[in-house]
Amino acid sequence: MTEAADTIVVVPSEIQSSKLRACLSCGLVKSVAQFLAYGCENCPGLIEAGTGDRERVLTFTTTEFSGITALYKPKRSWVARWQRLSQLVPGCYAVGIHANVPDDVLEELDALHFDTRG
Ligand SMILES: [Zn+2]
Repeated sequence: MTEAADTIVVVPSEIQSSKLRACLSCGLVKSVAQFLAYGCENCPGLIEAGTGDRERVLTFTTTEFSGITALYKPKRSWVARWQRLSQLVPGCYAVGIHANVPDDVLEELDALHFDTRG
């Protein structure tokens, strides 16, 4: 990612944490509407932008997360290094993901070469 890309900051459009979801792979926290419209900025191929595939968004994101870390300049942040987020887009990230991910979802993440966080 170039330094210019650091100027893109993804901010959740919801304030209520119950309406926010975290990407199972990278932990990016957004609303369902944002995942539907923009996909996951870190995980193209996992959640694509603009497909309207709500089921896929719900499958590969979770409400089962704790804490939110806001990253503005991931490459310069010790929190980003600690949370292993340095290579990701600036935005809000789950500190911990506690979802019970079904085996078939894990297999698809693995097949697509995405890890799960948590
Ligand atoms: Zn992601």
